[in-house]
Amino acid sequence: MAQRAERLGCETVQVFSRSPRGGKASALDPRDIEKTKEMFDRHSMWPLVVHVPYFLNLASADREKRLASVEILAEDLGRSEVLGAKYLVTHLGHLSPGEEPESIEAIARVTKSIQEALEVYHGPVKILLENTAGQGREIGWRFEVIGAILESLPVDRVGACLDTCHAFAAGYDLASADAVEATLREFARYIGLDKLGVVHMNDSKGDLGSRLDRHEHIGQGKIGVEGFKAILGSSLLPPDIPGILETPQDSPEDDDRNVKMLKSLRLQV
Ligand SMILES: [Zn+2]
Ligand SMILES: [Zn+2]
Repeated sequence: MAQRAERLGCETVQVFSRSPRGGKASALDPRDIEKTKEMFDRHSMWPLVVHVPYFLNLASADREKRLASVEILAEDLGRSEVLGAKYLVTHLGHLSPGEEPESIEAIARVTKSIQEALEVYHGPVKILLENTAGQGREIGWRFEVIGAILESLPVDRVGACLDTCHAFAAGYDLASADAVEATLREFARYIGLDKLGVVHMNDSKGDLGSRLDRHEHIGQGKIGVEGFKAILGSSLLPPDIPGILETPQDSPEDDDRNVKMLKSLRLQV
């Protein structure tokens, strides 16, 4: 992973600490970790970000399932620390069948789950709550909801991750300079830019407000080149905020092209 990141010219990296689709996590090899850290230092790749596996549901109404998710969240916090990561990104989870959109109970379950994980893990790795596209029963596509959850959690231990594709699909326009400005002001109002740790830089296959979680190559989706130029150039975003690509890999050259695309747009702002 570190070798690939170096070849691609990455300045920051996001990884899974285990298979994202399930199964037991394998032990982390200390020699691998040493070598990785060394490479990261040598190429000033920082920070390392870990993403929790996809199957977690911190909002589950089924207590057993919810607690199993809490356990993995806490475990992944520990694994992130061992890997030398600064952040662990998680989604909020899904409503149970029949639950009202943005049900207060479901939101309260998410808050409780995170509090429970923080009671188990006391290290320095910070949890970042990622906004979702609001596809299906996903919770957390409105900034208000993420903001409300963060209100009741310690600021030094939990922050936010902004995914551009998800925000756009959820109805927050990012396709022009004015739109980016307005969306970031919304983010600042309900969540706070001081709580923002990471931006997931993904273009969107789906239209504005489509609630479709379908990532697209930078510049080829509905956010487009103008949108990403505006995001990279926005004075509202802290200048050193790490940007992570989660763009599709349709061909082996895709990652290289997307990294180069963002870097060239950054030079144009
Ligand atoms: Zn994302
Ligand atoms: Zn997504």
